[in-house]
Amino acid sequence: MAHLKCIVPECGLEYPLKSVAFRCEHGHPTDVVYEQVPSTSLKEVFYKRRDHHGNIFDESGVWRFRELLNFCQIDTFDVIECASHFVSLDGSEGRLSKPYHMKRAARFAGAEGESLWLQPEGYNPSGSFKDNGMATAVTHGKMVGAKRIICASTGNTSASAGMFAANEGMKCDVYIPAGQIAPGKLSQAYQFGAQIIEVDGNFDDALEQSLRDVERDGYTVNSINPFRIEGQKTIPYRLLEHLEWKAPDWIVYPGGALGNTSSCGKALLELHKWGWIKKMPRIAVINAEGASTLYNLYNGKFGTKLRWNGGNVDTALIDEYYDNMGRRRLDPHTQASAIQIGKPANILKCLRALDATDGVVTTVSDKEMLDAMAVVGLNGFDCEMASGAALAGIKKLIESKVIKKDDVVVGILTGRQKDAMLPVRYHNESSNRFARPPKNRGA
Ligand SMILES: *Cc1c(COP(=O)(O)O)cnc(C)c1O
Repeated sequence: MAHLKCIVPECGLEYPLKSVAFRCEHGHPTDVVYEQVPSTSLKEVFYKRRDHHGNIFDESGVWRFRELLNFCQIDTFDVIECASHFVSLDGSEGRLSKPYHMKRAARFAGAEGESLWLQPEGYNPSGSFKDNGMATAVTHGKMVGAKRIICASTGNTSASAGMFAANEGMKCDVYIPAGQIAPGKLSQAYQFGAQIIEVDGNFDDALEQSLRDVERDGYTVNSINPFRIEGQKTIPYRLLEHLEWKAPDWIVYPGGALGNTSSCGKALLELHKWGWIKKMPRIAVINAEGASTLYNLYNGKFGTKLRWNGGNVDTALIDEYYDNMGRRRLDPHTQASAIQIGKPANILKCLRALDATDGVVTTVSDKEMLDAMAVVGLNGFDCEMASGAALAGIKKLIESKVIKKDDVVVGILTGRQKDAMLPVRYHNESSNRFARPPKNRGA
């Protein structure tokens, strides 16, 4: 009824769900593939579950949609059976996230009327969208009998993994680029009892090290894990449900390792195939200027334009790009540490998403992200700098007329502020556009 399958059509190798074949034997990424077509009458079921009557799997913004991610292959209406499989932090993952209109953000971006929505994923239990995918990844980890989960992290993955591991009584190893993690994220990992393993290097080095070590023991919960991708599909589910399953014109994400955009693409491809949505929204991925691998490759800044090409991706071009990065020591660099990634692990799945949705990729500067972050705050919502990339990117794409002023756009605010000094520094520097420096009234 469901299985793991290589995403490259020409390869298409299949593996059972109870395996950890996150890559096929040729090294291509795999997907969870469901064979049945879920009935659109489930839309009504999902909506009604919001009145959850104490059932945490109805309360959860992830498991509320469990028929569309039922890789456990269980009776989704039997609460006892759900409880013996699904990992949930008492129904809190994804529970509070839905799209909102934010007037000042819309004015900042130049969007007209009520066309702009922003969806704060920071209101997840560990403070970022990662909880959506971690709930499902740890569920699969339990399904294959894992006792120890392992991840590399720019911060939020470790906070999320640590939280679920502690709640499930599992061990958790976290590989971090030493000295490059926002203190608010690192402290969460410590707080939840994770074992921190410092790697000298950047995030890409930490991920490579963690994958080398996992061969011996443990279960990887980075977004190369297709079961992470399954849970993150609920981010577009929630926004589509809010728009009564009428697809918006655009969905806009900051791009780091590209797991989130990959999951959005997979969700849209499935929903379209199943007849749940009539039209495909376009995906826009926003890179930081200093960490713009996807932008460079997709837009032909490094040879020909990199494309999905029916699954025949020019991977030699990606390798060449990485070699060049290594040789010239072009380390990714941005203050938005969550997207400071040079080798996006999900680039192939992201290319598939961009292909299916006629997607675009652009970049924004650190200053633009900080201004956007500040504007989100002025609407009474909190987000971190990397999330500011979504709004800053929307502004840039409206200015360059790629996005029309009255297009319906949903931007994903990926995480809550965990770098406490960043807004303090921003507001104390009066030259910043939205700064409100403190007043001093003497003794
Ligand atoms: C992880 C993360 C990102 C990047 O998401 P990817 O799926 O890796 O592209 C962006 N923003 C925040 C706050 C994050 O935690």
